[in-house]
Amino acid sequence: MDLDLTAQQETLRRAAVQFARERVAPWADVIDERGEFPVDLIEEAGRLGLMGLTTPQEWGGGGHDYVGYALALEAIARASATVAVILSVNNSLVAETIARFGSRAQKARWLHRLAAGSAIGAFALSEEHAGTDAQNQRTVAAPIDGSSDRYRLNGKKVWVANAEAAKAALVFAAVAPAERDRQVTAFLIPMDAPGLVRTAHADSLGVRGLGCMDLELDDVEVTDEDRVGPVGEGFQIALWALDGGRVAIAAQALGVGLAALDEALVHAKRRQTFGRPIGAYQAIQFMLADMATELDAARLVTLKAASLRDSDRIRGEAAMAKLLASEAAHRAADKAMQILASAGYRRGSKVERLFRDARATEIYQGTSEAQRLVIAASILPMEKLGRRRRETVIRDSGLGIRDPVS
Ligand SMILES: Cc1cc2nc3c(=O)[nH]c(=O)nc-3n(C[C@H](O)[C@H](O)[C@H](O)COP(=O)(O)OP(=O)(O)OC[C@H]3O[C@@H](n4cnc5c(N)ncnc54)[C@H](O)[C@@H]3O)c2cc1C
Repeated sequence: MDLDLTAQQETLRRAAVQFARERVAPWADVIDERGEFPVDLIEEAGRLGLMGLTTPQEWGGGGHDYVGYALALEAIARASATVAVILSVNNSLVAETIARFGSRAQKARWLHRLAAGSAIGAFALSEEHAGTDAQNQRTVAAPIDGSSDRYRLNGKKVWVANAEAAKAALVFAAVAPAERDRQVTAFLIPMDAPGLVRTAHADSLGVRGLGCMDLELDDVEVTDEDRVGPVGEGFQIALWALDGGRVAIAAQALGVGLAALDEALVHAKRRQTFGRPIGAYQAIQFMLADMATELDAARLVTLKAASLRDSDRIRGEAAMAKLLASEAAHRAADKAMQILASAGYRRGSKVERLFRDARATEIYQGTSEAQRLVIAASILPMEKLGRRRRETVIRDSGLGIRDPVS
């Protein structure tokens, strides 16, 4: 097993570390405090190619592999979790989906701009009744006058990251809401389309400044040219996007966890009690050792999942990476808080921000419970289960794992 990075991966990692240290880190607290989308920083990230890392070069992107991408996101998240999520939504959920499933016209219209950061993308899957149960789409794409190539969209999307600054959104809607699979279909819609309205701004605990908003669709008219992929395949397309997105969130969580470890190490050396640095006490050493070990293990699993982006094993592997990395980051932030004690608990301390940011990684792009369901469905010998049991596993995974028998 070769664990060395390629020259291209190492070059990308170094560039991301430099951008994170010099440009992102000085703004991280301000972004968090104001909760404002960091427009200037994202423009700069676009100029450096960070908004289109995984977009093919022929469409203006960097054409990087997922290992390099994950390393870059980890480095950026170590400075600001918010900036890393903005990049990951644009790269994994929007640009990659267009590159893979979009028409030539959609690619020509959007990919160069998304990769350059002159257009930002958003991914609108979640609804009030469709979070973990994402297939339960109540946004409806109704054929106009019975036509099969023009639709009118009505509904509401919630928690749409990047929405505040986005120029286009991938919107998922049910073409046949009465059918069992609802015929969920993906549409790529410019944010200035008539009837598409940004509404409530999410005032969130962490990853503040993500530009998270609700979107209301009131008679938004689209045509077949706005459709991404076939009618009824939208849910599978969303899951494909989320496979990559979860690797990205695992990398983001790692960055947050490592930042917590950085803070804890500095404090352990500096803070003295009873005439000795607290790092001299075994109780503190053990917490630091657990943090370092868990984060290192999570990184290995994340990079393994990243290397499998194009394989059919990705769904379970990405879920494992996200589960492990987000929970490791949560524990690392918690231990850092314990090591810093009152200095960490103070509002405005870096550890306080990391503690809040880490928590989100266990929720978005599928909760930890959802990841466990996906992992279970990917390892259960489903062929041996009866039809009804298979259907239950598949339905409860909520994540469109196909029945291997039918
Ligand atoms: C900061 C932030 C940014 C986000 N960005 C986006 C975005 O850009 N685009 C987008 O589409 N969405 C986005 N989301 C939404 C996110 O994906 C959902 O919040 C997430 O999938 C969980 O859905 P929910 O909040 O409705 O929880 P629910 O689905 O209501 O779940 C509630 C609880 O029940 C558990 N649960 C549910 N079903 C099961 C089951 N079958 N078995 C066991 N436990 C279960 C869950 O794990 C959870 O603990 C974002 C959310 C946040 C917080």
